[in-house]
Amino acid sequence: MYRLTLADRRLSVIRVEAFVYGFGDGRLVLRAPRSETGTFFEPINLSAVSSGAALDVRERDGAWSIEAGNGDLAFSYDVVIAIEDRYSPDVRSMLTFLGEDRCRILGRDVFLVPEAPFASGVLVDVRLFPGGGLSSSAPAVRDRIVVPDAGELPRTMAAAGAFRFLSREIGGVSVALAIGDAWSFGDEEFFDVLCRIVAEELALLGPPPRSRYLFVCDGNPVRGGARFDYYGIHYDGSMLLLLDPRIDRSALMDAPMAIIAHEFFHNWNSETLAGADESFQWFTEGATVYCSYRILERANVISSAQRAAHRRTVASRYRANPYRERVAIGEAANRDMGDKDMVNLLYDGGYLAAEALDERIRKDTGGRIGIIDVIRRLHERSGRTDIAGEAALTAAVIDLGGSDISGFLRELVRTPNPHVIADRFSSLE
Ligand SMILES: [Zn+2]
Repeated sequence: MYRLTLADRRLSVIRVEAFVYGFGDGRLVLRAPRSETGTFFEPINLSAVSSGAALDVRERDGAWSIEAGNGDLAFSYDVVIAIEDRYSPDVRSMLTFLGEDRCRILGRDVFLVPEAPFASGVLVDVRLFPGGGLSSSAPAVRDRIVVPDAGELPRTMAAAGAFRFLSREIGGVSVALAIGDAWSFGDEEFFDVLCRIVAEELALLGPPPRSRYLFVCDGNPVRGGARFDYYGIHYDGSMLLLLDPRIDRSALMDAPMAIIAHEFFHNWNSETLAGADESFQWFTEGATVYCSYRILERANVISSAQRAAHRRTVASRYRANPYRERVAIGEAANRDMGDKDMVNLLYDGGYLAAEALDERIRKDTGGRIGIIDVIRRLHERSGRTDIAGEAALTAAVIDLGGSDISGFLRELVRTPNPHVIADRFSSLE
């Protein structure tokens, strides 16, 4: 069981206390979750006690071992939430946020986790804003979160304090929204749009991997002309939506809602689908962007004219991309993803490849199936087959009654400037 309290509000320090009951082995080893560039946080003043006596704690290579003996033990440490580059464009590094009256916590930013989980589930008491509300991607009651699987702790998100909390059941799935900040639209209006998008995706794609989802919507602190105004990211059951606080009410019926459709769509089309690696990212991202705009249109969130306008933007940015004639769409993710043009080649090229693929499958099947049906099938098969990436995609299309698209795919995403897309430029205007 973990407990989170505020150690020092001004310095953004959170205290984490953990209680382990009936620990049966001699040594407890704790680790901080690792990112690609190192660990997500450094615990400060880690100490442990058992029956009132301090226990020996040793650090080695980013792991802390506690000589625990038998019985109950407790350990505690502090975490500094203030992240240096909070106002840099790199929003990914600031998923945990501690504000004046509310906070959102992503497990990996605060919890040391035992090397071998000692319990199947863990309880987390969030006492950062006593009396405030709490919602989480895991079930929560008052200030307590019940994380059913300890392994999910790093990817569990909680929103606590002065958020407005809304929730609804949609087709057996529990959808929660924690919304902070002030907006030009009402919370209910926003939640209604969100639920319509979720309902549309459930109807098209079938049961999602989990039965509970939390959306956290807050102001994006990143401002300024060249930077993005809205941003979404998902971690299993949590979707973080950061919107520009200046956003107009009309945005409820426009492109910013695509981040909801996009992040929720990743429940079916994600990195884990079909054993996907970098070479399949054009599909993971490209098909997700393409399908999410189709879904917004189906859910009557955007009009066909708005969808066409988005498509024109994608197509003209792709045409102007300096890598278009040198790098295949399917190779973009293997290159420097810090390079904006390369990122655009992956997303825009991926979008256009997904569109070309959708049309090809529709043509081959007399309009009976499309790319969304293929993704649904890939998701259903996921984990049950050895074939991955494009091979799995090809097999799913055949499975659904389409033809062999392997040659078409090779030309489409393994050749720079594929004629399948170039030939369509006149229709992309
Ligand atoms: Zn994405």
